[in-house]
Amino acid sequence: MYVMNNISPIQFIQFSLLEGKQWEEYGVCEVSKPNTHGIGDLTNTVYDERMGVLEVNKECYTCGYDSSVCPGHLGYIKLATPIFNIKLIPIIQHILKCICIECGTLRIPGDFAMLKGLKNLSMARRLKSLIKLCMKTKTCSKCKNILPTGMDKEGVKCIYKTSSGIQIVTKTPSEILALFEKLDPKTIKLLGFNHKLAPNPAFQTKVALTENKTYIEHRHYNSLAAFIFTVLPVIPPFARTWVIRNGIKSDDDLTEKYNAIVKINQKFADKNITEFARGEAIRKLEEHISTLIDNHNETSAGMNRTHRGLADRIQGKGNRMQENVMAKRSDFSARTVLASGGPGIRFGEIGVPREMTKILTVKLRVTYRNYESVCKMMERGEIKSLWRWNPIQNKMSYKGLATDSIKKKVGVRVNDTIERSLANGDWVLLNRQPTLRRESMVGCKVVIIEESVFRIPLAITAPLGADFDGAL
Ligand SMILES: [Zn+2]
Ligand SMILES: [Zn+2]
Repeated sequence: MYVMNNISPIQFIQFSLLEGKQWEEYGVCEVSKPNTHGIGDLTNTVYDERMGVLEVNKECYTCGYDSSVCPGHLGYIKLATPIFNIKLIPIIQHILKCICIECGTLRIPGDFAMLKGLKNLSMARRLKSLIKLCMKTKTCSKCKNILPTGMDKEGVKCIYKTSSGIQIVTKTPSEILALFEKLDPKTIKLLGFNHKLAPNPAFQTKVALTENKTYIEHRHYNSLAAFIFTVLPVIPPFARTWVIRNGIKSDDDLTEKYNAIVKINQKFADKNITEFARGEAIRKLEEHISTLIDNHNETSAGMNRTHRGLADRIQGKGNRMQENVMAKRSDFSARTVLASGGPGIRFGEIGVPREMTKILTVKLRVTYRNYESVCKMMERGEIKSLWRWNPIQNKMSYKGLATDSIKKKVGVRVNDTIERSLANGDWVLLNRQPTLRRESMVGCKVVIIEESVFRIPLAITAPLGADFDGAL
């Protein structure tokens, strides 16, 4: 539950990557000191309380709410040296195949590219078709510089094929950042990126959005400089709380990573740092940032446990997307294995486990006709929640039914809305994936059974495409 009064309704959503200075604007504090377990002075550490608080009785410094309401706020680490965003290296390689490495001009004239049909392609497909056209060019038309003949698959390395052999030149993030910053908007547009926020009236005025709905075009804003981290965002402590592992309080993997990054970052402040030590520090910083984002290649966090990066928490089974965001967690629904009904289930009925009926509910308005049966339900403890009209607030307000004494005090009145447990004879909708046609969803009458499977009559297996081999 996130309640804030100063939030206006969403007008539109644009997906984009943020640049360093934008991260700084969004961030509430800079993280520049390491800290473990959130003990001691927390200012400018990974547990800074401006990003949100972990304890229940404390207030967030930024929004003033406690941990149950505060959504958490982003912090940021100013990196001593730019670092590639590991996930965007393939795109950086694609771009470098299309432009001059030195001056940033497009390898072929823009008009020529347009004549070759680039205009008709969507922004997303432009870059790929442009590579084919550009890779034929050997020298830059503007600065006469010799262009690389290809890119190495790993990292950002230019390959030059000469008569004396193959030469590989590694490009540093700082060089690429400087190159991207001097690209002119025309080139960026030809490459298939939006340099500025889409030139759409809907994005400027509220009126345009409502009056001319058909004109809203889906576009993304992308600054190429955002492909390289100069400022690293720090997610709130809320999303990476410390845990008690084997009886010892220990930091989350992400917190450990942020601490490691901060520590390496501090090394650059030393002015007498040797060139070798500096190179080593950059390499370590790159490794930590890439494993912070995605740890598919699995570097260990000790104790036979692999460290989990940000991507590892979002994708995959049991993680944020599948577990919390996708549709299987919708209310008033349940899922389990199908089994044959046998002689106990008639056509048009479904056997539902008793365990499920304790959680699944049906909303009901109390009337003079059902008043007595609802009172009996209340006595049996089958009513889960109750809403009653509150004339002062001018809306239905929720009444807790935690204990028997509260239940007695609240009681049941006509015109209340209640949620009762699922009972025999209720109608429910049975759906089996893949839902290919309307027969995949059937209305069934509930029969409560003492098992933990859905029991269905054999007659409806054909329309559902169901069998009893254990799949759901
Ligand atoms: Zn807050
Ligand atoms: Zn050039």
